[in-house]
Amino acid sequence: MIDLSPLIQRLAPTPLAQWATTLPAQLEAKLRKGHGDLARWQAAVDALPALHPSAVDLVDGVRLDAACDEATRQQVQTALMGLSPWRKGPFDLFGVHVDTEWRSDWKWSRVAPHLDLVGKRVLDVGCGNGYYQWRMLGAGADLVVGIDPNWLFFCQFQAVQRYLPQQPAWHLPFALEELPAQLEGFDTVFSMGVFYHRRSPIEHLLALKDCLVKGGELVLETLVIEGDEQQMLVPEDRYAQMRNVWFLPSVPALARLMRRAGFSDVRCVDVSVTQVEEQRSTPWMRYQSLSDFLDPNDPTRTVEGLPAPRRAVMVARK
Ligand code: SAH
Repeated sequence: MIDLSPLIQRLAPTPLAQWATTLPAQLEAKLRKGHGDLARWQAAVDALPALHPSAVDLVDGVRLDAACDEATRQQVQTALMGLSPWRKGPFDLFGVHVDTEWRSDWKWSRVAPHLDLVGKRVLDVGCGNGYYQWRMLGAGADLVVGIDPNWLFFCQFQAVQRYLPQQPAWHLPFALEELPAQLEGFDTVFSMGVFYHRRSPIEHLLALKDCLVKGGELVLETLVIEGDEQQMLVPEDRYAQMRNVWFLPSVPALARLMRRAGFSDVRCVDVSVTQVEEQRSTPWMRYQSLSDFLDPNDPTRTVEGLPAPRRAVMVARK
């Protein structure tokens, strides 16, 4: 389904060369296990019409254009709808605006100004459907590998990648724990929206550090609370209806966790409260979204009475 030989070739002169050669077998094994819906999603990807973008914009968004009649545009729309729900985006593909649950472009505009990705070999951990991978290439990255164990997001990535086959972006359906220890081959490693889903914060940070070259940069984006270095919220049960949120540190506590994990030069470059305009239901994601997870009488609280989502972007060096 995916040809990894260009990735292996590109990684041959890097510290990731040996790892790259093991990827086809690992991918093959993963695909064999697969997922009950994989065939249906794969069929949706295959139903996308053959089009060659005449214009590609990865700098101001993810936008592909081509001369395309209404029937073809409808084919694009139907195939992409078959890959719903779409959470991260938006994507503009041949006149179809994939209005995703998240305005991930807003997050990117808070993250990108603080980074120099030109010429960098990047790993995006928990890359979702790969939205940011395209934006990273737009920001000048040399190569971007995304990992995410979610098969739907894997297929959404294939849908976009189909029209950008020459771009140095790869999506691997793996969890961070499935990467070998001490890869030490990426210049920049991203972990956005993943940290609070992990049970062991320091272990996650160490695993991210393991992927970086010495001197490499970590970009960590996660939920935080207000408070000092001693404060961290551990939800008793759900947080904004999510069952898998384990801890929300304050920014100073998070910085300390990062220093304890061995990072230096730890900086917080952005803190923002998530607005209901940034995360909402759309025709492409019809389930409940942020406004349903907030207290209707007090939008500074979640339905559980906890502080409403606030996110920090941290940057640090190995
Ligand atoms: N990075 C994107 C997506 C965040 S959602 C963003 O910031 O918008 C969190 C993602 O992490 C999900 O797509 C989920 O499948 C993925 N994920 C969860 N556990 C993971 C793990 N152990 N390793 C890698 N990805 C993981």
